[in-house]
Amino acid sequence: MHDDWQRFVAEELDRLAEDHLLRRRRVVRILDATHLEVDGQQYVNFASNNYLGLTHHPRVVSAMARAVEAHGTGSAASPLITGHTTTHAAAEQRLAAWKGTEAAVLLPSGYQANLAAVQTLAAIGERTAGGVRFLLDKLVHASLIDAVRMTGQPFRVFPHDNLDKLERLLQEADGAQRQVVLTESIFSMDGDAADLRGLAELKRRHGFMLLLDEAHASGVYGPGGAGLAAELGLNELADVTVVTLSKALGCGGGAVCASAIFVEALVNFARAYIYSTAVPPPLAAAAEAALEVLRDEPERRERLRSLANDVRNRLSAAGLQLPPGDSPILPIVLGNEKAALSAAESLQLAGLWTLPIRPPTVPRGTSRLRITLSSQHSDDEIGQLLRAVSALPK
Ligand code: PMP
Repeated sequence: MHDDWQRFVAEELDRLAEDHLLRRRRVVRILDATHLEVDGQQYVNFASNNYLGLTHHPRVVSAMARAVEAHGTGSAASPLITGHTTTHAAAEQRLAAWKGTEAAVLLPSGYQANLAAVQTLAAIGERTAGGVRFLLDKLVHASLIDAVRMTGQPFRVFPHDNLDKLERLLQEADGAQRQVVLTESIFSMDGDAADLRGLAELKRRHGFMLLLDEAHASGVYGPGGAGLAAELGLNELADVTVVTLSKALGCGGGAVCASAIFVEALVNFARAYIYSTAVPPPLAAAAEAALEVLRDEPERRERLRSLANDVRNRLSAAGLQLPPGDSPILPIVLGNEKAALSAAESLQLAGLWTLPIRPPTVPRGTSRLRITLSSQHSDDEIGQLLRAVSALPK
């Protein structure tokens, strides 16, 4: 790098460090679904999205290993060349059946799945007479924000889960313009749920398109882990559902589940899909096996849900305030960045790995510890967590 640049970048990074906002990767050694080692020390992992421990489930592991033997390690081409294989087609069929949609399409990451879904909505919307406008919940994931910005189409942000404000935006819309609402069912950093029943009501009145990101609800809520919309009997609510295979499913990649015609449009319009090498076949095979485990082992989901309720109740009883909800994502909002960093350090001293989440991931003044539970945490480990969190300075 040119000297000038080198100096400038170093100064910017120093500034981040002074503001307690510098991020550093830690090299971790994964021991199993809920334990890791950092610098030779072992910790219980309360920071991953491995809600059901499926990264280490024997059926998922052996499905992946068998697929490597049979088809090799990578796809070696984008899906429109030779990257779309029988393994992908089978996994997509199972994903669609699980979500109750006509079709599904696999992408190399959830991030890309959101890009591809939004690119498709924009491509269709901009071809209509009145054009398209996106309406985003303020707390949607970075991938949805980036996706919308990339389309160059107009957008507005509504306050988190504020359906009155959303309705006002819908009312002020020019009649010919297509409105597309983007939200999550379980929000990644707050762990609260969107008011899906309210959204269904609003949709009946205003007839917008809805993209629902079920990254954190998939595998955790609903029959067979099909998500929060399915749990509430709102299977027809979302026009486009995005799921990640990287969280409860324990694999990697993302999927867009929608009508067959939408998926066909995605294959034609979504640059995030067209110009990227297809998901490695072993991941597609592993995701398919993970869906079978979701179906056959509901007890994992049941334990996770009951742990989440129990830990939430006990933290409230200890005087901690959590956003409302029943998800396994527990944000302990501490305010400033320094407080979040030192809380994470205290938990590390107790052998528990949690991460301080700071701006720009969350709004300024809401830095937090984000604790995530897994069905595979033992009762003892949950006890350790409760003791350590209760002892944090209030
Ligand atoms: N959507 C949400 C709500 C997420 O939390 C994430 C992951 N952090 C993604 C999409 C992106 O998924 P992936 O990590 O598979 O790219």
